[in-house]
Amino acid sequence: MIRRNLFSQADDRFRLHVADFLDSEIAPYHRDWEMQGWIPRNAWLKAGAAGLLCRTAPRSHGGLDAPFTESVVITEELAKRRLSGFLIFLQSDIVAPYFLKLATEIQKQDYVPDLCSGAKLGAIAMTEPQSGSEVAHMKTSVTRADGDFVINGEKKHISNGFLADVIVVAARNAGLALNQAPQLSLLIVDANTQGLSRARIPKAGMRALDTSTLIFDECHVGGEKLLGAEGRGLFYLLTFLGLERLMLAIYAQASAVTILQELISFCGRRKTSTGSLVDYQVNYCRLADLYGECTVNQAYIDACIIEHAHCGLDPRAASLAKLRATETLKSICALSVQLRGAQGVSGVSGERCTQDLLDSSVQSIWGGASEVLRDVIGRSLANSV
Ligand SMILES: Cc1cc2nc3c(=O)[nH]c(=O)nc-3n(C[C@H](O)[C@H](O)[C@H](O)COP(=O)(O)OP(=O)(O)OC[C@H]3O[C@@H](n4cnc5c(N)ncnc54)[C@H](O)[C@@H]3O)c2cc1C
Repeated sequence: MIRRNLFSQADDRFRLHVADFLDSEIAPYHRDWEMQGWIPRNAWLKAGAAGLLCRTAPRSHGGLDAPFTESVVITEELAKRRLSGFLIFLQSDIVAPYFLKLATEIQKQDYVPDLCSGAKLGAIAMTEPQSGSEVAHMKTSVTRADGDFVINGEKKHISNGFLADVIVVAARNAGLALNQAPQLSLLIVDANTQGLSRARIPKAGMRALDTSTLIFDECHVGGEKLLGAEGRGLFYLLTFLGLERLMLAIYAQASAVTILQELISFCGRRKTSTGSLVDYQVNYCRLADLYGECTVNQAYIDACIIEHAHCGLDPRAASLAKLRATETLKSICALSVQLRGAQGVSGVSGERCTQDLLDSSVQSIWGGASEVLRDVIGRSLANSV
């Protein structure tokens, strides 16, 4: 892979700290957590104590004012170890920014220090049974009643939805017909709020990640729980989706590099009557193509990281980064099963390879399915001519 220029020496030292923490506190238990389908709270508290949660948040709110490259380091180290349930970036770079950018000072003081320490786990709830890709068409409603907000509806496939102490919920302002321009609002819902019930969803990919259904039945939250301006929810979601997609691209890319390296070394070791698997032209050409895709993706993602850190990332660039990284990852995982033959589907290596393939399938769906990303990119190109 080409030399990467975006990390400082401090980032390199920080990478060792992250690696130590993950190797001692998370990796040894992750397989058990895959079986149970969620990560215990203690692991989050340990990550908070090790300074790994919400590091880029300001010191005034419990963070460390760390550069964004440290979020990148954490995300890459998680992916390299296949720690698919312990998604620190979900807390730090997907949920926390809603509070850091939109919350009032009181809301920040109420939530951000706890997100940094791991005392509170956060989630973001957009998806519904009938509107995943079409986020603007969500049906969960929010109505004003005597200064409170009342939420009714159902959210689905919410990461950390069962474990979360605080959930940012997107809902449609009631009173508007479904075919009118959508007016969404964001509400902060504490997990113990009456009218909220939750259930875990069993799933095959990303098995250690708690993924849950949330039901809101006359769920009352105080007027002070509005996040940002009323009716601006869709704008906020689309804005924050940029960083979400970049984080998912970074995670997918680090997985792709790891799995491709393992596959190349397997092909070198796997002997055939005339040499090894990597000696067949048909195989080394496919590996060369995937290596090429991975290398170009890395350069593009690194450029996006720099752009995000300095001046904010264009949504089209983030969509392209996620699309390319996740599709390349899926191709690598499919080839990794195929070139291992029976070993790709049986025994310990088969378990790992088929799990990689399932995990990669999740990645080309969540945060915007590949088809939707192509749509976003294509439309923005059409609008620019
Ligand atoms: C493990 C996991 C964690 C998740 N975490 C969260 C979370 O924390 N918060 C949250 O809000 N959501 C979360 N999601 C939901 C995720 O964002 C949605 O699954 C995703 O947006 C796709 O929505 P959907 O599943 O309803 O699929 P649908 O919208 O029903 O789409 C199904 C398929 O139809 C095709 N399709 C859809 N639209 C188009 C189009 N315009 N053009 C062409 N083809 C199209 C695509 O192939 C797509 O995969 C999570 C999902 C998973 C699997």
